[in-house]
Amino acid sequence: MDQNHKDTPLDTHRHIAIDGARENNLKEVSLRIPKGRLTVFTGVSGSGKSSVVFDTIAVESQRQLNETFTWFVRNRLPKYERPHADAIEELSPAIVVDQKPIGGHSRSTVGTMTDIYSVIRVLFSRHGTPSAGPATAYSFNDPTGMCTECDGLGRTVRPDYDRILDPARSLADGAIRFPPFAVGTWQGQTYTNTPDLDTHKPVGEFTAAERRFLLRGGGGRATRKVNVDNTGGARDIDYEGLADRFERLYLNRDLSALSQRTRDMVQGFLNEGPCPACHGARLNPAALATRVNGLGIADCTRMEVTDLIGELGRVDDPVAGPIAAAAVAALERIEAIGLGYLSLDRETSTLSGGEGQRLKMVRHLGSSLTGMTYIFDEPSVGLHPRDVGRLNDLLLRLRDKGNTVLVAEHDPDVISIADHVVDMGPAAGTGGGLVVFEGTPEELRRADTLTGRHLRRATGIKKHPREAVGGHWVKNADLHNLKNVSVRVPTGILTAVTGVAGSGKSTLVSKAYTDAYPDAVVVDQSSIGISGRSTPATYLGIMDTVRKLFARETGAKASLFSFNSQGACERCQGRGVIYSDLAFMDPVTTTCEVCEGRRFKEEVLRLTVGGRSVVDVLEMTAEQALDFFARLDDTSVRRRLEALRDVGLTYLTLGQPLSTLSGGERQRIKLATQLHRTGTTYVLDEPTTGLHMADIDGLLALLDRLVDAGNTVIVVEHNLDVVKHADWVIDLGPDGGKHGGQVVFEGTPEQLLRTEGSFTAEHLRGALG
Ligand code: ADP
Ligand code: ADP
Ligand code: ZN
Ligand code: ZN
Repeated sequence: MDQNHKDTPLDTHRHIAIDGARENNLKEVSLRIPKGRLTVFTGVSGSGKSSVVFDTIAVESQRQLNETFTWFVRNRLPKYERPHADAIEELSPAIVVDQKPIGGHSRSTVGTMTDIYSVIRVLFSRHGTPSAGPATAYSFNDPTGMCTECDGLGRTVRPDYDRILDPARSLADGAIRFPPFAVGTWQGQTYTNTPDLDTHKPVGEFTAAERRFLLRGGGGRATRKVNVDNTGGARDIDYEGLADRFERLYLNRDLSALSQRTRDMVQGFLNEGPCPACHGARLNPAALATRVNGLGIADCTRMEVTDLIGELGRVDDPVAGPIAAAAVAALERIEAIGLGYLSLDRETSTLSGGEGQRLKMVRHLGSSLTGMTYIFDEPSVGLHPRDVGRLNDLLLRLRDKGNTVLVAEHDPDVISIADHVVDMGPAAGTGGGLVVFEGTPEELRRADTLTGRHLRRATGIKKHPREAVGGHWVKNADLHNLKNVSVRVPTGILTAVTGVAGSGKSTLVSKAYTDAYPDAVVVDQSSIGISGRSTPATYLGIMDTVRKLFARETGAKASLFSFNSQGACERCQGRGVIYSDLAFMDPVTTTCEVCEGRRFKEEVLRLTVGGRSVVDVLEMTAEQALDFFARLDDTSVRRRLEALRDVGLTYLTLGQPLSTLSGGERQRIKLATQLHRTGTTYVLDEPTTGLHMADIDGLLALLDRLVDAGNTVIVVEHNLDVVKHADWVIDLGPDGGKHGGQVVFEGTPEQLLRTEGSFTAEHLRGALG
């Protein structure tokens, strides 16, 4: 126990007390975090904020909570390991509101996850006319309410005959493009040998009756046998319609029985569209016909939250009124966090991480719990500066209900409302892990830390933007909320696409633009879809060289130096951790007790090069590895390590599982594999996520280098430092959802400064004082 941090007895009840914390890169961190206050954790990316807040405080809180259960229950709960620390005391139950995607299945919508849909169901079952029955009759997850055509999914999957059939060709000439039924296959003989169709007529010229016969067979009409030859000699079989056969073999059966390859292939011949019976409303006709104040339940879920508040506000019936008011109160919380442009029927799987996080907040804001610890991971992600003020109000409201609020955040506006700031540093990875400052935001502004210096610094707007080399046109885009947008995206320069959340930035850039220019390289923050076995070393292809080096120097087989192969620890099969997956909870991982997380068999660890085992190499940061490999004269490894340095990730170790990386880190490691190109268009969605102000300088330098090497860079960004630094800005708006979807400005940052009617311009002027 660190004696310097002994508090008076009174104080210990008012602080969360951490002593000697050593998770990840933390160097014996001792902290007193005031309870009932809002504390912001800052510091460069990789400095150790998450290690304190999530890996130490949240994990220990959950572990202690689990210990309060009986042995019987505890055995069924995930096992949390005690975080590495001398003491963690005076914790309150922690609720983590992070950016992990919300349960992705298609039955989860904004309405169901916030529970507002159940309030609306009660409103319709008790006060709608004619009422379809009790409240489940309005549930699309219940057989009494769901549309029977689509089973409450709102969408149906059908074979896409425009893709399956080539209208210009005849059946004999390969009109069927679906490989299992193509000419020359066993199944295909049905359609080339049938005596009931003209197999030499282009299928595009078939009469309606002929087409129906092709797809559905004779119906009531007797069909003649098809003569097929299954190598052993000809025989006659019954004709089966192409559609009937496709549905029987590929739709109406357990698809998990098919190989992944077959499923992917079939997927290419399917069309997903709104259900023809309920038009996407998911409910059966009785439920859909019910009206409250002239509104149907589908009208309610389809309209934007902001409009729904207005509609339900007009329900003044003395009995229905209070239920409508309860729904309005919850809807207002959605609006208050800047998500008023969403509709209740929006599937949660289509929300961005930031939108999901803010929706999770809605649930907690409505709860009356006090004395909790709420932990937020960069809640400003995806928020325009205009909306950060509203976010701040919500964080403060949570605090004022008597909770402790901990926030890992870089945004100066969020830092400014903190009661207490903990600044981690001084650098990232092994260069970080210390508390470099504790105090108020005002004191931080005067502190000699990286964060303090950046808060004081005023950066100006770009005076000499680059000139475009050419332009890419997006024409008449109308997806989602875009209103027939035509815009020129300049090439050869750095363009920032801005606008409030929901204005249509991602739709324009990630959908409309990349559909028109599919060669663009999209560097997003999605997970790197491989296994828990991926590390920077495997992802960047460094591991191959390392294995060969160890084999050459030690005389052992190269495969021994791989934890995906013969070198793997037998207990954990080279994962280093053991997974316990519980259906009703987040899966939990614990360190393998045999290899202690090192992934390799004991014997492999005894084989060394330059005094280092392969595990030692995997534990090196990219920085240390650059030194180690400098002796090897292997340019390919050096180049890859330098790429990691260029994207600001030298603090990562070569063996750190990619699954532990934040979204922003994942995006930058993807970028590291993309450097050294020229003439390429890069599209980045909010690349400043997870980045400290100091890291943003590094990111901008990297983007500049990409542009100077002859590439085009398009970033979707809110961060005003990035906007000031861009050569060109395309601002969408004016607001979110249906009130957005238009280009309100295109030009240089200096021109933007003089523009009226743009929230971005307004905040840019504010930031420049
Ligand atoms: P921040 O939240 O400030 O960005 P983190 O606490 O996530 O920083 O990371 C601090 C250091 O610990 C970094 O070097 C990071 O790569 C490392 N780290 C984080 N999580 C893990 C993990 N699960 N395993 C190994 N190293 C980790
Ligand atoms: P931004 O990137 O500016 O935050 P988006 O392009 O994500 O905005 O969203 C613009 C509009 O399109 C919003 O009204 C949003 O709700 C809607 N939208 C975005 N993605 C989807 C989707 N997958 N399905 C339905 N609507 C969507
Ligand atoms: Zn339906
Ligand atoms: Zn093991």
